[in-house]
Amino acid sequence: MNQPGTIETGRKDRIVGLYSQARQLAIGRDYAQALELYDKIIADVPRLIFETPRINYERALCLKALGRIEQAGQAIRSCLSVQPDDPEFLRFLSEIQLAKHSTDAMPVVDVQHPGASVSFERRTSQALELCRHGLALAKSGEHTAALAFLDQVLIEYPDVAPKMMGLQLHKGSCLRAVRRFGEAAQAIRNELSLDPNNSRCRKLLNDIQRESECGDLARDEGKFAPVAASSMRCELCNLQCLVFERQFERDWHICPNCNLIRSDVDESQAKVLDKGSPSGSKSPTYGAIHRREEFFCRVFLEQLKLNDILLYGIGWSPVYKNFKEAGYNVVGCDLWRPLIEERNKQFGQGAFYHRDDLPDMKFDVISAFEVFEHFVRPVQEVQLLANHLKDNGIIVGCTDFWHGGSLSKHPNPDRSYWVHKSHVTTWTWKSMNAVAHQFGLKTYYCKTNKRNFAAKVFFVMYKGSKYDQFVQGLPKIFYDVW
Ligand SMILES: [Zn+2]
Repeated sequence: MNQPGTIETGRKDRIVGLYSQARQLAIGRDYAQALELYDKIIADVPRLIFETPRINYERALCLKALGRIEQAGQAIRSCLSVQPDDPEFLRFLSEIQLAKHSTDAMPVVDVQHPGASVSFERRTSQALELCRHGLALAKSGEHTAALAFLDQVLIEYPDVAPKMMGLQLHKGSCLRAVRRFGEAAQAIRNELSLDPNNSRCRKLLNDIQRESECGDLARDEGKFAPVAASSMRCELCNLQCLVFERQFERDWHICPNCNLIRSDVDESQAKVLDKGSPSGSKSPTYGAIHRREEFFCRVFLEQLKLNDILLYGIGWSPVYKNFKEAGYNVVGCDLWRPLIEERNKQFGQGAFYHRDDLPDMKFDVISAFEVFEHFVRPVQEVQLLANHLKDNGIIVGCTDFWHGGSLSKHPNPDRSYWVHKSHVTTWTWKSMNAVAHQFGLKTYYCKTNKRNFAAKVFFVMYKGSKYDQFVQGLPKIFYDVW
């Protein structure tokens, strides 16, 4: 008998031989023959499914090529249960779902980066600014917060990031510190592919391996295996979502393509959410949310000399009055009907509208601060905003993004953000880029240096190219803005 974990040499050679034959056949597009060999290999050494999911993945490719979509789907889900974050596997799963479920599904195309209009030097300095801030957070032990900055560099600056030696190493160290071992190892491997002789990486990789295998560190805390198909479809990609996790007494679903995460909302809850909230932004003081809304709107109104503004989801905020008094052409919008009535009494008819009654007006600037996370139908809601933009119009707002791991590991020490029952949609860079792209909008993202606001993303979605230079040249980090 063989010891578990070993294959006797003769048998191993035979498997390796079969595998190389199978690959050759697959490359030569003889999928039926290739599949026969892949099946033989797996029948012979079933544990290879877990030890070398690549084999099963190649088998899945053959199944799909032969039109056996259902089985290809099963195979790739099995691969994902071993390597849940593998981008190639995830991409293939979404292809499968496209093939299986829908002929009208819309694959998300990468947005051509509007940042190309800004010089490489400027982009490098933006990336460095984010990186420096991330490293400072890591140094003070705020690893999840640090990741929110380091990941932004990798996602937004794919041209600059590979030149920043050590970036992936730092990311790997942060991931290790928050015990997301699988992702940590991947980041270190990425660094090694840039710098194969980096001995610090090799040591770290060993440490990660050991920690993830031994004793009480065995639990990979960030690991999630979203492999069970969920009942929800991604409104954006029209793909079947995967169950992400059960958290805060709700199920959360992730789109395998764009990573948009949404929580279950049943019909009765949707109705309640659609009525808005009487307390919407009704704080007696001039709260942080209003100050930040006013600050960011003024950046565009004043510097680009724009005049027409829609304050979307503004509630009782004093920003409406401030802008009106400053002479801007301002309209407020909310969901809570009594609020709209009261505001119209105060400021005159047409000052405020319910979302569904908004007349066909177009605006230079639309603000949506702490609004996107409330969207039950995110695509429809963004479309509504896009429809009310003038040519070269700008949407500006903020929301907390998902930065990996469980939603319970929100980077802020106050982890209550996703506990709010009305927070039902969790955005990511990819999903926001995708929805913006769908409506012909470009994007730009900024952060604040404020402590405990690492997950907060200030976003700009804008039409046309008139303000490319201005928007893409905005500071990456706004200092002392809430
Ligand atoms: Zn999607």
